[in-house]
Amino acid sequence: MIIVLKPSATPEQVTNFTDMLKTDYDVRVNRWDGIHSTVLGLIGDTTQIDIEYIDAQDIVESVKRVQEPYKKANRKFHPENTAIKINDEVTIGDGSLNIIAGPCSVESEEQIVGIANNVKKSGATLLRGGAFKPRTSPYAFQGLKAEGLDLLKAARKQTGLPIVTEIMRVSHIDMFENVDIIQVGARNMQNFELLKELGKIDKPILLKRGLSATIEEWLMSAEYIMAGGNNKVILCERGIRTYENFTRNTLDISAIPIVKKLSHLPVVVDPSHASGKSWLVEPLAMASVAAGADGLIIEVHNDPPHALSDGAQSLTPAQFDVVAKKAFELKKALK
Ligand code: PEP
Ligand code: MN
Repeated sequence: MIIVLKPSATPEQVTNFTDMLKTDYDVRVNRWDGIHSTVLGLIGDTTQIDIEYIDAQDIVESVKRVQEPYKKANRKFHPENTAIKINDEVTIGDGSLNIIAGPCSVESEEQIVGIANNVKKSGATLLRGGAFKPRTSPYAFQGLKAEGLDLLKAARKQTGLPIVTEIMRVSHIDMFENVDIIQVGARNMQNFELLKELGKIDKPILLKRGLSATIEEWLMSAEYIMAGGNNKVILCERGIRTYENFTRNTLDISAIPIVKKLSHLPVVVDPSHASGKSWLVEPLAMASVAAGADGLIIEVHNDPPHALSDGAQSLTPAQFDVVAKKAFELKKALK
């Protein structure tokens, strides 16, 4: 961290400020006295320093971070990739490609079990399905809630596929105890109270990127979970809001290699929510695998025109079969 002090700072103020930095934050402070101003260089772990607090001090002209504000999610302090074991067969981030597939919403036992059987045959390694749905309209289908969780468990029992489903409230954490991966949706990426509580449990968290979140904000949200002691965070790029409205969102392909460079955490891509259109899922899925994604999360529905949510972006099981096969072939070719 580099701090430029105002020319008006007195030698006594500079000494007091420097002493405060050393004692409060346990950093070394290098000082350069120029003709017009003094510059301080802070060396050590500056992640705990509130840059806005420093900026608000009377003698400070400007302050700049030279190191990322996240530590646990940072590859600099953890050079090896993190691989997250879900069960004996499934590990995310170990160099293999995992495909999470299933409907946007769990609608009935027949629907979720049928889709689970289909996607498993096509090579999906995990089952998705929303039980608690974050919908833009309060009048839209809100999910089957607790019953949806039970139906997911029934589908897991029949297929052996681990289940991934979204949480929206802190008070539901106990209800999600038997879920294999808890999803934090885009709209909750900065629900810091929820992130803190998820940091206290020992369960993989699929952290979706917020609709307008920068990569650093997304990694800071991962840091919230990890700061509590839960290191099992899987990042999910699911498209961001841009001026382009042909697609539902804009898939940020560059985020995949960027996040893999900045962080050791696995990255999964959701081409369904990124595009909003079923015919775009295949090309975006291929691009994601080519860019280094550790996994894909794809919406699949037995009857997309009658889906209770996100039918337009859902693949039929037959379409999913084609996409999954191509994605695995591409992954193999890249090796
Ligand atoms: C979902 O996965 O169904 C979902 C609501 O995703 P997102 O939070 O990315 O919009
Ligand atoms: Mn959806």
